[in-house]
Amino acid sequence: MEETPHQAADPLTDRKADVAAALATPLTSSDRCDRCGAQAYLRATLSSGGTLLFCAHHGRAHRDKLADLAVELYDESQRLANDPQRG
Ligand SMILES: [Zn+2]
Repeated sequence: MEETPHQAADPLTDRKADVAAALATPLTSSDRCDRCGAQAYLRATLSSGGTLLFCAHHGRAHRDKLADLAVELYDESQRLANDPQRG
């Protein structure tokens, strides 16, 4: 785990902000699937510290493998719940 340097005057406030950001850093339109370049809706953090990004399609395709490899899966694919091709 890497430490963020503490520069804020109030370390408690600073720590709270760090935890919240680590728990739910949202994916943005600039996050792209590593396989096809579409917008990413799933982020897998690996035990090695690396990060993989997948679109909803490739996220589903690789999900079983990612569940084994990743220490954390952040999934925003429910934002596509209205997609008629879902599932
Ligand atoms: Zn993709």
